[in-house]
Amino acid sequence: MTTELTHFIGGEHVKGASGRFADIYNPATGEVQAKCPLANAAEVRAAVESARAAQPGWAAWNPQRRARVMMRFVGLLQRDMDKLAEALSREHGKTLPDARGDVQRGLEVAEFCIGAPHLLKGEYTEGAGPGIDMYSMRQPIGIAAGITPFNFPAMIPMWKFCPALVCGNAFILKPSERDPSVPLMLGELMLEAGAPPGILNVVNGDKEAVDALLDDPDIGAIGFVGSTPIARYVYSRGTANGKRVQCFGGAKNHMIVMPDADLEQAADALIGSAYGAAGERCMAISVAVPVGEATADALIEKLAPRVESLKIGPYTAGDDVDFGPLITAEAHARVKGLIDSGVAQGATLVVDGRDFSMQGYEGGNFIGGCLFDNVTKDMEIYRQEIFGPVLTTVRAQSYEEAIGLALDHEYGNGVAIYTRDGDTARDFASRINIGMVGINVPIPVPLAYHTFGGWKKSIFGDLNQHGPDAFRFYTRTKTITARWPSGVKEGADFSIPVME
Ligand code: NAD
Repeated sequence: MTTELTHFIGGEHVKGASGRFADIYNPATGEVQAKCPLANAAEVRAAVESARAAQPGWAAWNPQRRARVMMRFVGLLQRDMDKLAEALSREHGKTLPDARGDVQRGLEVAEFCIGAPHLLKGEYTEGAGPGIDMYSMRQPIGIAAGITPFNFPAMIPMWKFCPALVCGNAFILKPSERDPSVPLMLGELMLEAGAPPGILNVVNGDKEAVDALLDDPDIGAIGFVGSTPIARYVYSRGTANGKRVQCFGGAKNHMIVMPDADLEQAADALIGSAYGAAGERCMAISVAVPVGEATADALIEKLAPRVESLKIGPYTAGDDVDFGPLITAEAHARVKGLIDSGVAQGATLVVDGRDFSMQGYEGGNFIGGCLFDNVTKDMEIYRQEIFGPVLTTVRAQSYEEAIGLALDHEYGNGVAIYTRDGDTARDFASRINIGMVGINVPIPVPLAYHTFGGWKKSIFGDLNQHGPDAFRFYTRTKTITARWPSGVKEGADFSIPVME
């Protein structure tokens, strides 16, 4: 019998009432393992009502008291790390060490949020004018919502709700319908940590639930992470409804390998960053750009045997598995179709993982590591985000040609350069139009106390996620100008106040 998952509203598990469900597959076997309820507008509204009832009391807590909830939440994540990682791997398919990393990178944002009393402190000017003091304070938006993707079912929900909650908001999380079990567990843990019921609600669903969140008049802020077309849609509908919205979209991350780079290091970095989590990461490197024919030949020679010897399997096969299956059969078909298109458009498929299969797991969404050489700018495998274990190599003849590729690509999430030359690295960091840059670092995901966000079609909105930007996004600034009677002058003043 397949498990029927629930929503988590007002501190309780609530059965789906819409009659609509999404199948949750075991990606390693293709079998349906659970059913995810898909909320209708009335169920979303129930979560909003619950948040509305709980939020004013929560916002009235002093910031230290909310920070202590976050502190206990961190402890509970550590206590349940193995349980969370197992549930995550079971639905997502990533390896257990990678699933622990997924939880850990969310936990680190919760840790950062423990500093909320400091981060929420306002500004104060004594004597801004005669007898006048001026101060600003940060107040919560009220109710915020988060819509999150399948590929980091622990980390990204926590990037959203931890800062929102500690700022005094209530939150409605709409996680991916492909792997919602960990988000539901996070809802339970936040309750156990001491957040009042209704402060963190988890509503499962698809477009219908997302639209209800985007149109709900009581929701003031929406944070989204997912593919670029949906990011654009969520941003335009949410902002048209007057909400504060930040949306993080897709990616096509290049790694430029200069002739002076340590090629062993560069090859290892490419393997980990292109094939880890089967390439289903928005910060995966999917394009290698060696500069010069000699660099390219040497790099391909180092990469090919490494790609051929990748260990692929279900997460249950042990910690030496490099990556697991893709999330769904549709994702598998899409990635395979793109690889076929690369071959048809004339790229050289140096390592072909399309026919990978494993005894006992024939129904799974596995695909072997693929390595392309001689890829050009016009090919679909270069233009599109593949989101699979596929590394494409575009040969560049000069540094200018290499940086030009990354500058011209429509996505701007992450990028890396491998070089020993400080001048080149410095020039690259300064000129590149991409949000997160690695210098001899393949996946430059900023730590919790910095902010995460891309440029170009990888972001819609202004502020980044986590770090200080998250505290700006989930609060409104109010500025008070105060003068007490002793400083008040006689008579009305009809011109705009200015300071002499
Ligand atoms: P997705 O866009 O399919 O789904 C994301 C969320 O949107 C899910 O909660 C889903 O239920 C919802 N959704 C899907 N279709 C919708 C529709 N038509 N209307 C309203 N809501 C809809 O993305 P995904 O496949 O879950 O995740 C992979 C994508 O996320 C990749 O493109 C990846 O690059 C991107 N991603 C970006 C970042 C980042 O920070 N930039 C991080 C992780 C993932």
